[in-house]
Amino acid sequence: MRQSTHQALLRQIPAVDQVLLRPLIAAWVERTGRSLVVSEIQALLQEVRDGIRSGDETYDRAVGMDNLELILDQRLRARLRPQLLPVINATGVILHTNLGRAPLSTGAQESLSAVSGHYANLEFDLATGERSYRDKLLEGLLGEILGSEAATVVNNNAAAVFLILNTLASGKEVVVSRGELIEIGGSFRIPDILARSGAVLREVGTTNKTRIQDYEAAIGRDTALFLRVHPSNYRIRGFTERPGLSELLDLAHRHEVPVVEDIGSGLLADLSRFGITEEPIAQKSITAGVDLVCFSGDKLLGGPQAGIIAGSRKWIEPIRKNPLMRTYRVEKLIYGALEGTLAAYRAGRALEEIPVLMMISISPEELQRRSRRFVRRLKPRLPASCRIELFKGHSVVGGGSCPGSELPTTLLALESARYRAHVIEARLRSQSPPVILRLEEDRALLDLRTVFPSQEDLLLSGIAHALE
Ligand SMILES: *Cc1c(COP(=O)(O)O)cnc(C)c1O
Repeated sequence: MRQSTHQALLRQIPAVDQVLLRPLIAAWVERTGRSLVVSEIQALLQEVRDGIRSGDETYDRAVGMDNLELILDQRLRARLRPQLLPVINATGVILHTNLGRAPLSTGAQESLSAVSGHYANLEFDLATGERSYRDKLLEGLLGEILGSEAATVVNNNAAAVFLILNTLASGKEVVVSRGELIEIGGSFRIPDILARSGAVLREVGTTNKTRIQDYEAAIGRDTALFLRVHPSNYRIRGFTERPGLSELLDLAHRHEVPVVEDIGSGLLADLSRFGITEEPIAQKSITAGVDLVCFSGDKLLGGPQAGIIAGSRKWIEPIRKNPLMRTYRVEKLIYGALEGTLAAYRAGRALEEIPVLMMISISPEELQRRSRRFVRRLKPRLPASCRIELFKGHSVVGGGSCPGSELPTTLLALESARYRAHVIEARLRSQSPPVILRLEEDRALLDLRTVFPSQEDLLLSGIAHALE
């Protein structure tokens, strides 16, 4: 009996050519070409055949042409979806490394897009018509903002640190406090980078206390430089000591030893009134007289991934000439995006234009108003099985910076009688665009701080759809 049903079902499976005639499928052929669509049809028909033969009844319904068409449409859509997609970040983590760190300002996007589809004067001096160096493009603008004499841009801050050490300290000693031998994540560890650069690590002090005398005692014939690293992603509290920057500079310069400071996140604006008090500001390092400072472009600076090295020309020039510079250089898109970002700082409009800084500076009251308004709009679109609750919590700066700074925010908890929190999280993640939220103590939480106001409508329908 079952055998004859199999035969009947198998006979109902249409031929590839018939499927190709269906309107949704014909539209895919039009858009993507025939061979991809044909291979997807063949794969599905084979799967259905195998399913029926194996007696799996879930395939019985698939043989109808309408169902086949819908399944294929979904599969082609999934297959052709770009691998890299914009997502809605509702986690409240502003510099979310897994979500690409800093979103670019409108100015940065415009500068990037202006050069992306055209030729550009990347290494061409428009005044003389001669070859120039990409490396000099932003030196002037960085100098205006930072007060630095010279500057160069590389692929990221990890590359900046490596290149500095490799150029200035290969075969010599680099003095670092034991409290600053940090791991940033993604296997970037100061001692390992130092070893790979050819420099020799000279640790001084202890994990919690390093005094100026410890540095002094370490100075010798082989000393290449003092490296001061901002412990970006952790804090030691309590019985601690670290020499002030000016004290360290005094000592180093008396002995003609340069000081290099890795400040990590590239903060260029004073954010202390928003609770960001422990991040070093790049301009302050330059003003204090460090020989080189380096930092990321895509952390608190709020631009594209890049590493910026700024300071005195005497030390920047040999870095430029290092043959390894070639392996870390950045392309015109990055220069475009970085220049567009930095232009907001020069204009004194960083807090108004750069998304990361805008997100940090939104007031808790504004976030509460936005969240209430959002809930008022969302409620009528949710089924009766759902509940939303607002409560106070914290956003996180993230990206391995500001570990102690928690920004007060309003959180939305989504609850459903049908779905557990992790199921809500997964369903939101599979929306288009995907919505990424926070799971905490088995609760699905949204923080509007990191959601662009222009994304709120999409977020609303995403949630409504996911909780259906
Ligand atoms: C983040 C960070 C780095 C690495 O910077 P990337 O731009 O991510 O390569 C290096 N040093 C410090 C102190 C940092 O905080």
